[in-house]
Amino acid sequence: MLRPLFPRASRALRIASIPTQSRLALPWQGAARSYSVQAQAASSAKPLGLDASKLSIEKTKSPGSLGKPEELVFGRKFTDHMLTIEWNEREGWLAPRIIPYQNLSLDPATCVFHYAFECFEGLKAYKDQSGNIRLFRPDRNMARLNKSAARIALPTFEPTALIELIARLVRLDERFIPEARGYSLYLRPTMIGTQKTLGVGPPGSALLYVIASPVGPYYPTGFKAISLEATDYAVRAWPGGVGDKKLGANYAPCIVPQLQAASRGHQQNLWLFGEEEYVTEVGTMNMFAAVRDRATGQKELVTAPLDGTILEGVTRDSVLSLAREKLVPEGWKVSERKYTMQKLDEASQEGRLIEAFGTGTAAVVSPVRSIAWKGKTVTCGLAETEESGEIATRMKGWIEGRQYGDEEHEWSCVVA
Ligand SMILES: *Cc1c(COP(=O)(O)O)cnc(C)c1O
Repeated sequence: MLRPLFPRASRALRIASIPTQSRLALPWQGAARSYSVQAQAASSAKPLGLDASKLSIEKTKSPGSLGKPEELVFGRKFTDHMLTIEWNEREGWLAPRIIPYQNLSLDPATCVFHYAFECFEGLKAYKDQSGNIRLFRPDRNMARLNKSAARIALPTFEPTALIELIARLVRLDERFIPEARGYSLYLRPTMIGTQKTLGVGPPGSALLYVIASPVGPYYPTGFKAISLEATDYAVRAWPGGVGDKKLGANYAPCIVPQLQAASRGHQQNLWLFGEEEYVTEVGTMNMFAAVRDRATGQKELVTAPLDGTILEGVTRDSVLSLAREKLVPEGWKVSERKYTMQKLDEASQEGRLIEAFGTGTAAVVSPVRSIAWKGKTVTCGLAETEESGEIATRMKGWIEGRQYGDEEHEWSCVVA
């Protein structure tokens, strides 16, 4: 089904999508994550049946203006159309529709408003130098959305069908994707429970929709290293919790710690976990540190493991793959392991902390200058005049090279 849509990348996509599909048949049997609650059985028993061939398209009668690309603010402006697919317990997924971007009409008793039956994704469509539109590893976002949905008793769907439908939406609203490097169309697949009831139970109906927002480069004038405040009074995620899922309910409670950090002059907060103060994530990004071993001098790129307290970032996975592909041959060690704020501080004091950076779809990589922790400032290896370390700079280049199709790679699929 994907072949006609992605002729240029069909080989790559087929390779990339086959294992994902078989993984998705039994999503909870994938990568072992010791603390994750495996409570997907109820919703995975619901019918799938999302059928992209049933798509109907109603075009807008009042196309929006494009505006100046350089004036784009993240997530403010949306394209002309949206994709909507309704689901109910009795009939499964109904015929998908692309309709003019519009308000939703929902009863005030709808379960999403009361018990937070909501999950979402974030991915981007890029325009390459030949004018092709490309999606970056969309199979990963589909797999993650299915895991999130299943955890809150919302229905799961066929990943390739939703990729195909997203491709149709992106194609229709193609004119909103600015051509210039660094620009893209941010896509926001969202699923909500729509049952009208105050009873706490599995939603008997749901809505899956996708909206699209043109976005500019995260750092329009080049990298700007950020300063972090380690949050020691609040916890983002915990073993057995849902911090490893993209549920809307996880994000509202993160704003106050972020405001607290901002009030003391920091751009983001750093989430620690437990009495050991393990470093977990930075704001809504995964965190990486490059350190040199005290005894052996071995250089190591380290990030926290997927133990249920970490969001399984697509960018994190891409950074790890690229590090194994390109840095290991240069003598680096690449580790997914726990590390503490204490160890990071020691490395910093001994001049062994080479650099640190956050990763996520929005910024790709975000270099870290310093971390405020226990009343001191832990510097993260950058000279005063530097805004990024070498690894962060190279990673951004490598990833963008694949996102924008400079390098033909199976991670990038062309939307035909
Ligand atoms: C979305 C998200 C990330 C980054 O994931 P990407 O797939 O790389 O965009 C990291 N941490 C949190 C908490 C997130 O919500």
